[in-house]
Amino acid sequence: MSGETIVGIDLGTTHSLVAVCDAAGPRVLTDAQGRALLPSVVRFLQGADPVVGHQARERAVEFPLQTIASSKRFMGRSHGESLRLAEGFGGRLVPGPRGMAAFEVEGRLVTPQEVAALVLATLRRTAEVALGHPVHRAVITVPAYFDDAQRQATRDAARLAGLLAERIVNEPTAAALAYGLNRARKPETVAVFDFGGGTFDVSVLRIEPDEQETASDLFQVLATNGDTRLGGDDIDLLVMDWLLARAREAFGALQLSPSVQQRFRAFAERAKIALSDRDAAPMEIDLGDGRALRCTLTRGDLEAMARPLVDRTLEKFRAAMADAGQPSLDRVVMVGGSTRMPLVRAAVRDFAGLEPYTALDPDQVVALGAAVQAHILMGGRRDLLLDVIPLSLGMETRGGAVAKLVMRNTAIPTRATETFTTSADNQTGIVIHVLQGEREMVADCRSIGRFELKGLPPMPAGIPQLEVEFAVDANGVLTVSAAERRSGRRASLQVVPSHGLTSAEVERLEREAFAHAREDMHLHRVVDLAVNARLDLKWIGEALQRAGDAVEPGYRDELEAAITRLKGMCEAAERDPARTDADAFHRAKESLDQLSVRLHETSIARSLRGMSEGSSPKR
Ligand code: AMP
Repeated sequence: MSGETIVGIDLGTTHSLVAVCDAAGPRVLTDAQGRALLPSVVRFLQGADPVVGHQARERAVEFPLQTIASSKRFMGRSHGESLRLAEGFGGRLVPGPRGMAAFEVEGRLVTPQEVAALVLATLRRTAEVALGHPVHRAVITVPAYFDDAQRQATRDAARLAGLLAERIVNEPTAAALAYGLNRARKPETVAVFDFGGGTFDVSVLRIEPDEQETASDLFQVLATNGDTRLGGDDIDLLVMDWLLARAREAFGALQLSPSVQQRFRAFAERAKIALSDRDAAPMEIDLGDGRALRCTLTRGDLEAMARPLVDRTLEKFRAAMADAGQPSLDRVVMVGGSTRMPLVRAAVRDFAGLEPYTALDPDQVVALGAAVQAHILMGGRRDLLLDVIPLSLGMETRGGAVAKLVMRNTAIPTRATETFTTSADNQTGIVIHVLQGEREMVADCRSIGRFELKGLPPMPAGIPQLEVEFAVDANGVLTVSAAERRSGRRASLQVVPSHGLTSAEVERLEREAFAHAREDMHLHRVVDLAVNARLDLKWIGEALQRAGDAVEPGYRDELEAAITRLKGMCEAAERDPARTDADAFHRAKESLDQLSVRLHETSIARSLRGMSEGSSPKR
């Protein structure tokens, strides 16, 4: 293996986590409290640093307008598109740059990319503390059905968090990689059914082991389908509506504060989760005005509400199977928290005629797979991963129609070219409108961006031969280039994304993130100090034990007091590096270092004595 560690990150709608993989296999990394799952929730309070994760989620009811959860749903989406998704969402959704979805929190505009960047930066720190060295590179997973704008937005978020997204991997493909490690070495056709908090994906893959070599299997995605607006959150909203209807029945028209609405939402999710193991979920919800709603949701009620959503997942499954050529399936691997619902398992069992495979931890499998992909990129494994593009890519042609250049489910990386000409004399520029989607008309597809070709040599209409190339890389991300063949000139391309940030905007945000560089440097210093202090403590503790009675009691007491102080500071620094006084920490480490010189000398003297007496040093 070569180079710096690349970590695998599952940037989820509800939870995110980080993992690494080495020769022993993949493992998730935990924070100082031993927790692997980081809630993808951020609280912004004026005059304070953003709070990420558990603390932000625990107090979401208290700070409904300052807490952003499920922001992945809005990544790379316009404000208009997002309004429907914002139902039940606590924060204030407003139009951001070029009409993109953004949040207004405490009078500040925050983009979904910045929220994701804070989650990614927290995971990066978790990894740095756990691994004991800086981390700058990651494989990040996205729903297979994420379009180009959503993938670009994820890459931008990584950049803002100081991470290079080495590869963007589709979540079901990552899950298949993790699954592939633990199975019998025979060819299999597998469907990965990934039903999470915000999105649904289904991929059909062929896994072929290499007969000669281990760690070099082929993972080929045959087809993928999904819906980036379908997840457990939608079930929560239905349950929340049901609860609100019960409240209105009991108390008439109600004006609920944002914090009580958040409470209804939290109860809805809790009841849904409880009903995966039980038949009834009784609830008592405080309305904040001295009244409380008492009601019981049964599994039957929940299933009646969720059934249409589950049916939608099966439609997508059917479409993916058709695109894959109706292979016979050996396995359906279940991934994502919502596959814990008995209704979902039963529906998949009926549909596929197979018992769904639920042995993988649905919370961890995607991150573990991302770590496996990172291990492949580091040269630790030789598996071949062939993924596909989820949605067709095309250009606008005359009359508002779309000419498709790259069809959905084409293996990536891929390239396609199209040649066209001008319609007016001496035209020196032309606009190419790039679209993604399956429909025939521009209005029904998603606009990726407008690419303006400039600086064409003036020629009569119909003479220039403009060759436009679409290149989709292994991340499923598109780049467009163009050349005029007759003159041999490459036209310059100016990209104006319809959604997402321009590179200038990313640079500005990055510069602003540099305003936090001091904070970042502080964290790095504390992480380094903690790692080195732990090594000192280990060495000094062992030496003290070895030296036994040779250490005079007064000196031993002094050493033990300094050890206890440094240990306490290490624990505090690992718990909360941001609030650690790095200078005091450094002084404590230095003073133990100084104090231990005598101990060091004693052990050397003992070793020398041992040698001169012809025996090995006593232990
Ligand atoms: P993920 O995006 O994979 O983390 O999935 C999170 C979603 O799974 C959320 O909507 C959770 O409410 C849902 N979920 C987690 N555990 C359960 C459970 N036991 N039963 C039903 N849904 C669950």
